Amino acid sequence: MTRGKLYVLSGPSGVGKSTAVHEVMRRHPSLRFSVSVTTREMRPGEVEGESYYFITRRQFQEMLERNELLEHAEYVGNCYGTPEGPINRMLEDGVDVLLDIEPCGALQVQQRRPDATLIFMAAPSFSEIERRLRGRGDTAQDKIEARLERARWEYQQAQKYDYIVVNDDVGHAAAEIEAIMLAEKCRAHIRLDYLKEER
Ligand code: ADP
Ligand code: 5GP
Repeated sequence: MTRGKLYVLSGPSGVGKSTAVHEVMRRHPSLRFSVSVTTREMRPGEVEGESYYFITRRQFQEMLERNELLEHAEYVGNCYGTPEGPINRMLEDGVDVLLDIEPCGALQVQQRRPDATLIFMAAPSFSEIERRLRGRGDTAQDKIEARLERARWEYQQAQKYDYIVVNDDVGHAAAEIEAIMLAEKCRAHIRLDYLKEER
């Protein structure tokens, strides 16, 4: 069986990653989202085990010590990480997996899984990121400032990604992500493996 493929999506807070991910998953129900662990507080509307697994710093440290995380990073005062076990099981079952993680983690994944595809999401303008982040209305003022500062650094990391999508419109951004996924399936080394199996 062909192994599943790993896709990593990054982009500044408020750019619209979650919104676009929901739309891509709606169009491709077989795609799975990797649920991260985080030490940050749950936001209104978030669901334990769907948005994140919300854990304490101590639990996070224990996961790190047990080597259970594929990657991890600190982001604006909280820890975030990707549990490795579920991802390995899904990939082995031929299921494609999508990660929504920030650039430090994305680059760790690139090192450890060179076959992963890294996608960076940008907004039509930087001021639009701030407008969307404030418009979402669930982040405190001081946290917004910290996230925007981090966003400037994140934009400088975009050159390290395989693809850049622009979220001017959610349907359009989802279509760009779909196009990337389709193109990756057609890469010669993947198709050649498939042809070998057929022979
Ligand atoms: P992220 O996951 O990157 O932090 P969200 O998906 O939570 O961002 O989106 C932040 C806000 O921007 C939400 O209120 C969402 O509805 C809005 N949004 C997302 N994409 C667009 C878009 N293309 N145009 C306008 N608003 C958008
Ligand atoms: P938020 O707090 O808005 O949900 O996420 C903040 C940032 O953390 C976003 O850039 C998001 O992509 C990133 N993030 C979410 N989960 C993970 C993870 O498991 N690892 C890393 N490195 N970043 C993550």
